[in-house]
Amino acid sequence: MNADVREVIVIGGAAAGYTAALYSARANMSPLVIEGVNWGGQLMITSDVENYPGYPGGVLGPEMMQEFRKQAERFGAEFVTDDVTKVDFSERPFRVWVGEDEYRAETVIVATGANARQLGLESERTLQGRGVSYCAVCDAAFFRDKDVVVVGGGDSAMEEATFLAKFASKVTVVHRRDVFRASPIMVDRAQATEKIEFVTDSVVEEVLGEGLVTGVRVRSVKTDETTDIPAEGFFVAIGHDPTTELFKGQLDMDPESGYLVTKGKTTETNIPGVFAAGDVQDDVYRQAVTAAGSGCMAALDAERWLAAERGRLLDALAAPRS
Ligand code: NAP
Repeated sequence: MNADVREVIVIGGAAAGYTAALYSARANMSPLVIEGVNWGGQLMITSDVENYPGYPGGVLGPEMMQEFRKQAERFGAEFVTDDVTKVDFSERPFRVWVGEDEYRAETVIVATGANARQLGLESERTLQGRGVSYCAVCDAAFFRDKDVVVVGGGDSAMEEATFLAKFASKVTVVHRRDVFRASPIMVDRAQATEKIEFVTDSVVEEVLGEGLVTGVRVRSVKTDETTDIPAEGFFVAIGHDPTTELFKGQLDMDPESGYLVTKGKTTETNIPGVFAAGDVQDDVYRQAVTAAGSGCMAALDAERWLAAERGRLLDALAAPRS
């Protein structure tokens, strides 16, 4: 066991975690960031990020995460490049394990993020960032006057298709059923958009293209017939999964989606001293800039909570004994 009790451990190394580390390092909290083997999060599978303020020329997602990390390191954040395997938040100091190694801290910031669900096709994986995207808000502008395909039948798919229609020449929504999970108003809006076409009862079999996406092969689940849809962009909008398995039974989460629950405008979880930031607790905005913002909030919340705790302890010690 590592004998030190840290002031703060940050679990997760991406926009939220590194920002929490930067702020807590600058508050002299000497954060330990257990960043995960695949640190960087969803930005590692993004190409150009053009919507992060301060980068007028755009920046590559992986490069931006390197810069975030470097900035936290500059102020003294330390890193463990491994995955957390177990946590115990039942008493303080909180305990966090990486295999056999145990770390302890007075506060913990959970910033483990969420992952966009993937179809699981080999061609989808090899063409990520080369026309395959998981975020229309981030990448739509690259597909101005081009044909794109969106897969999914939920609110995300409808929203992404409608957004993409502002740029693309044609948007084809492919859905595996003929009934949409999305709310009727979102479906109506997409159906009323001229540039959007629907291909229902169909699954995506392969993303076509060598080096860059050139189309999508779909198969009708009714007739088994396959059709190639020419497209330069392929947007996967089949939902997100927050990385919250580790915290089951300890932190409150939405029973259906698994997103961590935070209180009001704060990053507080149900356990005083444990905070959550970024996509692990945000199924609405899911942007690098909002994740970074909530990482900052979590560091400030942790710092203030710790100061208040210490104040309470000093008051208790100073109180006259009866
Ligand atoms: P979702 O509601 O879970 O929908 C996922 C969609 O993807 C479903 O239509 C599902 O098909 C399909 N799908 C899942 N796995 C698939 C696979 N392997 N192959 C093909 N299709 C697959 O996810 P979401 O659309 O991201 O929405 C998540 C939550 O955020 C929802 O509560 C939603 O209301 C909310 N949201 C709200 C807004 C808004 O109000 N502006 C915008 C976005 C999201 P099936 O239907 O056949 O299962």
